[in-house]
Amino acid sequence: MASPSETLSYPPEITAAESKQLLSTIKDWSIAHGLAVRPPVSLVAAEADPHGVLATTAPVTLFPSPFPRVCFEQARSMQRAYNHLYASIAQDEDFLRDIVQEILEVDEFIAELWQVHLKVKKEGYVQNLSLGLFRSDYMVHQGAENEPPVIKQVEFNTIASSFGGLSSQTSKLHKHLSLSDYALLETPISRKEIDLPENESTKSLASGICAAFDAYSKLVPIHDCCVIFLVQDPERNIFDQRHLEYEVQQNQSNIPLFRLPFGEILRQTVIADTPKRQLLYHPPSKPSQTFEVAVVYFRSGYDPSDYPDSSAWEGRLQIERSNAIKCPTVLTQLAGAKKVQQVLATPTPSSEPSIVIRFKKTGTAEIDNLSKTFTNIYPLDDSPAGLEARRLAVDPEHCKGYVLKPQREGGGNNIYRSAIPPFLKSLPETHWKSYILMEIITPPPVHNLILRNGVVEKGGVICELGIYGTCLWDQTSKEVLHNEEAGYLLRTKGNKSEEGGVAAGFGSMDSCRLI
Ligand code: ADP
Ligand code: MG
Ligand code: MG
Repeated sequence: MASPSETLSYPPEITAAESKQLLSTIKDWSIAHGLAVRPPVSLVAAEADPHGVLATTAPVTLFPSPFPRVCFEQARSMQRAYNHLYASIAQDEDFLRDIVQEILEVDEFIAELWQVHLKVKKEGYVQNLSLGLFRSDYMVHQGAENEPPVIKQVEFNTIASSFGGLSSQTSKLHKHLSLSDYALLETPISRKEIDLPENESTKSLASGICAAFDAYSKLVPIHDCCVIFLVQDPERNIFDQRHLEYEVQQNQSNIPLFRLPFGEILRQTVIADTPKRQLLYHPPSKPSQTFEVAVVYFRSGYDPSDYPDSSAWEGRLQIERSNAIKCPTVLTQLAGAKKVQQVLATPTPSSEPSIVIRFKKTGTAEIDNLSKTFTNIYPLDDSPAGLEARRLAVDPEHCKGYVLKPQREGGGNNIYRSAIPPFLKSLPETHWKSYILMEIITPPPVHNLILRNGVVEKGGVICELGIYGTCLWDQTSKEVLHNEEAGYLLRTKGNKSEEGGVAAGFGSMDSCRLI
């Protein structure tokens, strides 16, 4: 492992001329390889891009950030067990019902999702197979100085786990720089010094979708099957999704794949009037043609703003009750709620956390290892742990070590440190239980430079590692048909920013230099 002094001298100081050279390489490589996003509307005057054709580089670090090898390996080695655990949670309706019922009355969004599940359950689910494209996010935690660093889980994503498409490109960009520009710096970094792990996130995630497509088309020998990417419109992070689309199509000899805006579900799809309830898609460019939808991959539907009216919920219900394989189902989406993460981690009165009690038998042998990645997370309910957490959360000193999270996805929803007490006090106390209180993880200091909107920011950074996983399981027989670790994402933000989302405008793409 690298010594602290080695970590501090990396990345090297660079001159203005070197920065210019690196920027020129990165700007062009990024666009040439689709490490790109659509520009924010606020940065481009409407008359400069009236037809929305412009793309710009995704925010990215100039160097791969140092990341402890033991932590990287630990995170990767656990992913299949995590996939299995979350597939088990999605199959455990009783467990989810208990959790959802606690927050139903104060969280309308979760309540609506649960209603969709109940409606389909009443009618009877027709599709047993369920697909998960997951991402488990971690930060490095350094305990005592002579102890090895460990990883602590930030959250587990079960819907729209993004950036897999851009992440493999970022790894390739840093590889390219390590074979060219870095060796030419005044303080050169040789190829040997820089250990960059392979990152096949695009390929691996695509093969998860293909596994579901294969399973569907095996059962239904129809040539006109398709895959749907259910998307937000407009979407700035479009190229991340496009990389996945192209990979799926390449892998499956150009199967039809369509992008369907969430708000268009009821206009462009219908459910066949058969016991099987096939989902039929009519492309707007050729409405006379019909495709049977094998897989619906959600890159939307996780945020209340995706459901502006009741017809959006009807659209969600239409997908859920259909025979298409969903990635994810409503139950799988709910399994990713922050409240579930808290319940798994919080010790029960018997002092063992629920994860151990509930899932050791049904889940995986590695539950003990998984639970070592948990940090302290508390409910804000009426339980003894909840009452203690309520006291901590409004204490001006204690609150500084915590983040408060609602049951939301996509970044920008959390409340940090000293902002917690006034926020909670602005809410009726009956609403507090829909939040969880989580200890802030403080990783060891790392330095890097970030290129964002053409400008280089330099300073202390915080890195968040995400490991992707793909899992296809049978909700009834509980059989797992496919379970793979699927590459990684490293996101890096300035250490003055609390949030880390790249799409939310806080973080940047990065890759690991293992130390
Ligand atoms: P979301 O589902 O919206 O992405 P997260 O739980 O991932 O919610 O929180 C968003 C960001 O907040 C993370 O990417 C991370 O930068 C920061 N964050 C969340 N939890 C913690 C924590 N326990 N310690 C430090 N930072 C955190
Ligand atoms: Mg999330
Ligand atoms: Mg997150």
